[in-house]
Amino acid sequence: MRLLIIEDEPRTADYLQQGLRENGYVVDCASSGTDGLHLARQQPYDLVILDVNLPGLDGWGVLQRLRAESSTRIMMLTAHGRLADRVKGLDLGADDYLLKPFEFPELLARIRSLLRRNDQRLQPSTLKVADLELDPGRHRAWRGGQRIDLTAKEFALLHLLMRQSGEVLSRTQIISLVWDMNFDCDTNVVEVSIRRLRAKIDDPFDDKLIHTLRGVGYVLEART
Ligand code: CA
Repeated sequence: MRLLIIEDEPRTADYLQQGLRENGYVVDCASSGTDGLHLARQQPYDLVILDVNLPGLDGWGVLQRLRAESSTRIMMLTAHGRLADRVKGLDLGADDYLLKPFEFPELLARIRSLLRRNDQRLQPSTLKVADLELDPGRHRAWRGGQRIDLTAKEFALLHLLMRQSGEVLSRTQIISLVWDMNFDCDTNVVEVSIRRLRAKIDDPFDDKLIHTLRGVGYVLEART
């Protein structure tokens, strides 16, 4: 198991590196966001432990860049105890979030838990309809091998349509399953989201996969 620590405070970095090595991990260290990003691009890591406050490119910047290019597990470290920071980290795709100061056993337990999730992720879980693919574990979608960027809601909507491929889903079902609340029935949130999703996964391609059944709902299936 190879871990990367991106941390500018030498004492914290040494403490982490030493403790993790004693526990059998192979550990690399970077003391700036730029160096860390460079190392992470050089070779695959099972987990990146990323400090938020870094000189130059900070932890948020590293997180966004890494997340855009890989599915490596990322644990954020921060001295800020603010909920907003935690939410921001998780929104940007961090897998876990640990506040400083932390107890080493807690760090080890969280690392083990994240690495277990890596193992589970190796199970095939990709959904496929025609040339459209969706990997829920990595939160990614492709059509014809082309990566498609989706917002969280678009992803959830596509995930639902693909899980139920071939079945008609009503607007009410979609709202309750994707938005998890009861919207006013007059709202056009589903139509708008379907239109946006179509613009990304259907419009650029000849074979359309999302079909509208007027007055009934939507179905995703290959009709060629
Ligand atoms: Ca720092």
